Amino acid sequence: MAEQQVVADLRENCATPASLLRDVAAAMADEMCAGLEKEGGSRVKMLLSYVDKLPTGREEGLFYGLDLGGTNFRVLKVQLGGNDKHVISRESRELAIPPHLMSGSSSELFGFIASELAKFVADEEQGTSLSNGKTRELGFTFSFPVRQRSVASGTLVKWTKAFSIEDAVGKDVVAELQTAMQKQGLDMHVAALINDAVGTLAGARYYDEDVVAGVIFGTGTNAAYVEKANAIPKWEGELPNSGEMVINMEWGNFYSCHLPVTEYDQSLDNESLNPGEQIYEKLTSGMYLGEIVRRVLLKLSLQSSIFGEIDRTKLKTHFHLRTPHISAMHHDNTPDLKIVEEKLKEILEIAGTSLETRKMLVEICDIVTRRAARLAAAGLAGILKKLGRDGSVDKRRSVIAIDGGLFEHYAKFSKCLEATLIELLGEESSKFVVVKHADDGSGIGAALIAASQSQYR
Ligand code: ADP
Ligand code: MG
Repeated sequence: MAEQQVVADLRENCATPASLLRDVAAAMADEMCAGLEKEGGSRVKMLLSYVDKLPTGREEGLFYGLDLGGTNFRVLKVQLGGNDKHVISRESRELAIPPHLMSGSSSELFGFIASELAKFVADEEQGTSLSNGKTRELGFTFSFPVRQRSVASGTLVKWTKAFSIEDAVGKDVVAELQTAMQKQGLDMHVAALINDAVGTLAGARYYDEDVVAGVIFGTGTNAAYVEKANAIPKWEGELPNSGEMVINMEWGNFYSCHLPVTEYDQSLDNESLNPGEQIYEKLTSGMYLGEIVRRVLLKLSLQSSIFGEIDRTKLKTHFHLRTPHISAMHHDNTPDLKIVEEKLKEILEIAGTSLETRKMLVEICDIVTRRAARLAAAGLAGILKKLGRDGSVDKRRSVIAIDGGLFEHYAKFSKCLEATLIELLGEESSKFVVVKHADDGSGIGAALIAASQSQYR
C-alpha cells in the first residue's frame, strides 16, 4: 500500500547504523581541525570566544544575564557568594520574543530587549541592589554566529533559526545593546558577549571542573568546548595566560556526505530562510523536527487515502506542526493512542483516524527523532574524539553539559542520544564520559562569565 511505502522509504533513508555514525563523528572531528587551522577552513566555523578563563566558583557579587535564544529571551540576576557558597540568590524573568521583531530592524529588537531589561531592574527588590555607585555588569548570551575580537564585542555573521533582521548583520551586537540601554537610561555595562553553548559550558564548569563541553539542543543546536591555545593555528593574537580558549563551534552548519538527508530535508532546506546552511541543525534541532514530520504527513495525505477526505490547509502550512506536538504524540502511552488522535484533530484537522494510522504516526515521529538523537550523539562523539577523550588516549572523567528545550523536554530524544553515545564509545570508554543536563546554563553562564571578566575584580 502507498502509505506503507512512504514510511518504509522514510525508515530506510533515515537509517543511522553505528558505522554511519562513526563516519559522521570522524567527519566532525576533521572539520573541527580544519576550522581551527585557518579562517574559513571549514563550514564549522570554530569561532574564538575570547573566553580564556571559565568561572571557578570563587566569583563574588551581583551580576546580570540576558539570554536571547531562538524563541524566548530571559533576564536574570545572580548574587554570587564566593568560595564554596556559589549562587546565593537568583531571580529571572522570561518573555517570548514578539514574532514581528524577528524580522524588523535592529533598533526595534534591541530597543525591546533594553526596555524589558530596564523594567526588570526597576522592579528590583530593595536590598539586593548594587551599593556604592558601581555600574551593573551584564553578560549577554546571544545565540547566533558572531565574529568576536574581544570577550565583550562581536559582529553578527548571519542570522539563523527564525530571525532575519538585515540591518543587524555585520554590526557589533554589544554596541547595539549598549546604545539601546543608554536610550532607556539604564546604567549597565556589557562585560561579556557569549552564546548559549559557551554559557552552558561556563555554568556547568562553575560546579564541576571536569566539564569539557557545553552543547545546546533547543530551537537550534550548537556546541562549545575548551581547546588548548596552542592547538588553534589560525589564532594570531597573544596567547592567554591560562593556555586555553573556549571555542564556539557553530556546529549547526556542519555538513558531511554521510548525513542521511532525505527528500523532506531537501525541500525544507530549499524553502528555508537560509538554504544550504545549517544542515546539521536542520536534522537535529527543535525548530525543524515537527516540520519534517509535517512534510512526511503531507506526502502521505497526497499519495494515500489513510486520512480520508481532509482539508489540507493546516497540513500545508509550514511549521504548523511543532516539535512539542510530535513529542506529545511520540510519548503517547494510552492504549488506543488518544493523544495522537487529539493532536491530529486539534492541530492538523485530521479526524477519524484508525488505530493503525495513529501507530504509523508514532513511528514517523520515532524515525525522525531517533535520527536526530543519533546524529546528535555522533556530534558529541566527534568532539570527544578530537579531544582524545573518546577512550582512545585520555582516560580522565569528561563531562558534557547539555541544555535546550529539545533535550530537556523530549525524553525519547535525550534517552536515545545518551544510549547512542554509549553505543559509539563502547561500554568501557563510556564509563569516563558523563552527559549531564545543565539546567539554565545559558542564562546563568553569561552572568558567571561577566563575573569572571568583571572590571571590579
Ligand atoms: P531557545 O533555543 O530559543 O533558547 P529553548 O532552549 O527553550 O529555546 O528551546 C526551545 C525549543 O525546544 C523549542 O523550539 C522546541 O522545539 C523545543 N521544545 C520545547 N518544549 C518541548 C517539548 N515539550 N517537547 C519537545 N521539544 C520541545
Ligand atoms: Mg536558550
